[in-house]
Amino acid sequence: MSMKIVVVGCTHAGTAAITQMARLYPEAAITVYERNDNISFLSCGIALHVAGIVKDAEQLFYASPDQLAALGVTTQMRHDVLAIDTDAKTIEVRNLATGEPFVDTFDKLVMTTGSWPIIPQMEGIGLENIELCKNYQHSQTIIEKAKHAKRIAVIGAGYIGIELVEAFEELGKQVTLIDNMDRVLFKYLDESFTAIVEKQFADKGVTLALGQTVTSFTGEDGRVTRINTTAGEYEADLVVLCIGFRPNTELLKGQVDMLPNGAIIVDSYMRTSKPDIFAAGDSCAVHYNPTGQHAYIPLATNAVRMGTLVARNLMKPTVRYLGTQGTSGIKIYDYNIASTGMTEAAALAAGLNVKNVTIEDNYRPEFMPTYEKVMLKVVYEAEGGRIVGAQILSKVDLTQAINTLSVCIQNEMTMDELSFVDFFFQPHYNKPWNLLNQAGLQAI
Ligand SMILES: Cc1cc2nc3c(=O)[nH]c(=O)nc-3n(C[C@H](O)[C@H](O)[C@H](O)COP(=O)(O)OP(=O)(O)OC[C@H]3O[C@@H](n4cnc5c(N)ncnc54)[C@H](O)[C@@H]3O)c2cc1C
Repeated sequence: MSMKIVVVGCTHAGTAAITQMARLYPEAAITVYERNDNISFLSCGIALHVAGIVKDAEQLFYASPDQLAALGVTTQMRHDVLAIDTDAKTIEVRNLATGEPFVDTFDKLVMTTGSWPIIPQMEGIGLENIELCKNYQHSQTIIEKAKHAKRIAVIGAGYIGIELVEAFEELGKQVTLIDNMDRVLFKYLDESFTAIVEKQFADKGVTLALGQTVTSFTGEDGRVTRINTTAGEYEADLVVLCIGFRPNTELLKGQVDMLPNGAIIVDSYMRTSKPDIFAAGDSCAVHYNPTGQHAYIPLATNAVRMGTLVARNLMKPTVRYLGTQGTSGIKIYDYNIASTGMTEAAALAAGLNVKNVTIEDNYRPEFMPTYEKVMLKVVYEAEGGRIVGAQILSKVDLTQAINTLSVCIQNEMTMDELSFVDFFFQPHYNKPWNLLNQAGLQAI
């Protein structure tokens, strides 16, 4: 009998694992269960869709059950996995269309159940028009409700919240951004960078309600009208909660090793602590190279890499996972921003003894007809000079420099080494001393 592979969840990690497994193990019987009525939705397009830049929601999907069927994969959409027994190798599923539960068996299980937005339990949280932002249905609800809303509040100033704030502001809404930290994007950027982002929003008339915690919601006729915080009250017709994610891993609780937040711990080959149970994506912890520790960093980049590695390593350990720096990018109005590894604030909070170099320069020679400012910060260990993080911001797109620094962190390079890496020079693009070389040189 052919090997039976069951995959639970079919967004980025699941789709990556499935398409690769179908190619590598054509004789295997692969079934994927997905509780939604769609697969492979690109959440990263939600803000662009809300802003009307991506007009057609269909473009936000890259796989369909028909495409997977062509690879020999059985896709069971609207099927909710209710229980998994990793010893008996059985899985209990409910067909949401018929309500019928049934049991399936597997030889190998791939857990790609991802994450779900954190919902704070507080007074008024059940009011209408308090919405989440994660999947296709959410995006449609937000777009529909935003049409009728004048005042919109976004709670959470991470990259998802920030992108929505820009989208709503561009739609002409009165927008309030609330976060308990006193800066936006604090996980990704240090204060000199976030100050620039905050000024952009303030100049556009966005109310920044930072450094305060939401305590309750007040409503009228069952609909939210006001958000109460530790520092004030804000009127809103629509609220979007973007305060973070929790891994969807209840099904394996007590059966495989997890972090305290429920993120599944996998080894470098995507194996959980139970034989034949693999996991990938937002359901998992990742190996965070700057600290060498496990961390919970839900990103599509990690999800597709880990999903692909499940396929490569399903039969025997073959290709190792390299870990992550949590590299990410964002565009806010005219600014192209990216970061990798730890901010200076995060490094200090983690007890690292770090220094930093911050460069503000024009990105190409001043004899060129135009040039723009760029701000680059590199954080490194005071002793030995190992690079642990970097941030860049400019009106020109120099975000690829952060991918370069991601490689440097991954390979444990020092600032001295960075000074003399061979980078090209061409006046259209940069200066004779590449910005990254300059950062290395200034670290002496
Ligand atoms: C608004 C937004 C913007 C983002 N932008 C970016 C970006 O620009 N760059 C980036 O790298 N990342 C971005 N991300 C993060 C990225 O979307 C996630 O990291 C990625 O979706 C994780 O993929 P996943 O397959 O691991 O999990 P998920 O996307 O969470 O998918 C898990 C799937 O499992 C299914 N499932 C769960 N439990 C069950 C069950 N019991 N039975 C059946 N099915 C189940 C779910 O329905 C879901 O389809 C963004 C996220 C959001 C919400």
